[in-house]
Amino acid sequence: MKIKILGTRGEIEETAPWHTKHSGVLIDDHFLLDLGEEEYLDYNPSFIVFTHFHPDHAYFVRRKNELSEKIKAYGPEENKEIGNVNIVNDTFEVDNYKFVPIPTIHSLKVKSQSYLIENGGKRLLYTGDLAWMEKKYQERLGQLDMIITEGSFFRKGGMIRRDKKSGKIYGHTGVPDLIRIFNKHTNHLVLMHFGKWFKKDVEASRKKIENEAPEGVKVEAARDGQEFSI
Ligand SMILES: [Zn+2]
Ligand SMILES: [Zn+2]
Repeated sequence: MKIKILGTRGEIEETAPWHTKHSGVLIDDHFLLDLGEEEYLDYNPSFIVFTHFHPDHAYFVRRKNELSEKIKAYGPEENKEIGNVNIVNDTFEVDNYKFVPIPTIHSLKVKSQSYLIENGGKRLLYTGDLAWMEKKYQERLGQLDMIITEGSFFRKGGMIRRDKKSGKIYGHTGVPDLIRIFNKHTNHLVLMHFGKWFKKDVEASRKKIENEAPEGVKVEAARDGQEFSI
């Protein structure tokens, strides 16, 4: 699988060179995971798989203008700006790619899910934004060739809030927590969706991320446009 990370900027105002665009990942020049920028449509994706409908993952939510109905879209729930989402909460296949949606905890307002993607014997996990992934779902991951996750907060615990009424948590967990969850499942973790902390000193931040890597695991920060292959 050829993986091109199109944008690595989280939902923040600040930008830094190589980290200016919102979330989007192009797989095999064929389909997209998330659509944080309208310009990603220039890749003419056959279909788009959405983790959730926050504007930094679905640009049209911010702009309140409808996305063309011609685009084949998959996601965890309907969205009125796009209209024709195929709601997927069980394993599905498109063009020889197998997708396993994995429910995630992230927002009180929108549903979210990660995707385990399999093709040609390779296995990739794209998490999207994450306050937490329940243990029972972590256990289903098995071994993956690569995990792409987020870097909104570097500090342990990230920024998690709890809704007083429902007791539900939401927000983003921290980079050390994500590494702890996922290092059992892969030896290559790639981070994107960077928060404010990352932009202050990009080179130092990249090092901090790399230094968090446990023995035998590569952990790295992606740049906008960076390509990987598994
Ligand atoms: Zn989000
Ligand atoms: Zn986001």
